[in-house]
Amino acid sequence: MVILSMKKNSTILFSMAHPDDESFMVAGVACKYAAQGVRLVLSTATLGEEGKVGEPPICSRKNLGTVRERELRQATDLLGIHFIHLLGFKDRKLSVADPKKIRKQLIHLIRLYQPNLVITFDPNGFNLHPDHIAISRFTSDAIAAAADPNWLPNEGNPHQVERLLWTSPLIPEELGHHEKLVGHPGVDFIVDVKHWAKNKAAALKAHRTQHLSIDRIWFDLPNLEIRLSNESFRQAWGPLLKRRPQNDLFVGMNSI
Ligand SMILES: [Zn+2]
Repeated sequence: MVILSMKKNSTILFSMAHPDDESFMVAGVACKYAAQGVRLVLSTATLGEEGKVGEPPICSRKNLGTVRERELRQATDLLGIHFIHLLGFKDRKLSVADPKKIRKQLIHLIRLYQPNLVITFDPNGFNLHPDHIAISRFTSDAIAAAADPNWLPNEGNPHQVERLLWTSPLIPEELGHHEKLVGHPGVDFIVDVKHWAKNKAAALKAHRTQHLSIDRIWFDLPNLEIRLSNESFRQAWGPLLKRRPQNDLFVGMNSI
């Protein structure tokens, strides 16, 4: 219970590229830590307005960004995420976004919310999507800058994030047998989120316009329960892990 109360003063920032990234990558840990009283902040860099509109179409292409924002808000309500920030960058063009502009926005969020822990895509963007690669790069840049008082002193007091996590190199169906993954490179955390599998499924389904890819990747494949029940992360930096994989994202942290 002591740990629970300490986590009540903790914050996780999820730094994602598109609406639905949060449901794919961090839905289970969002539910788990919301239940422990951790404050959850989501930054989504684009509205995914160049994505699919559904089949049959759920909206016009012109309205897709607005509809996807609504879907994102439904999903995050299901996950217990407290604050959402939409950065307003262009979908599929994040890799050529102005670094100064996105750095300023992310520094502002990091200094405002002072997260202990940040989760973003790994430097390969999990699936090599250029927007995922870009948000990984921009997030690392902003975390370092947010801790340095020489960067943008008008954007708040410097804050040092204690742990940065990236998406793991494994796909969800490879995460079922934790004991077989001891020593697997990049699998530093596997969190059992079985208890919240239904919330994760509901959040994925809230992204109705994206049902073709979500069904193909999640609901049309076997072993759905296993795939919804585990989430894995790689430690970019943070306190040394005595064994891996760990199951608590806050293990060993001094700032909670
Ligand atoms: Zn994405």
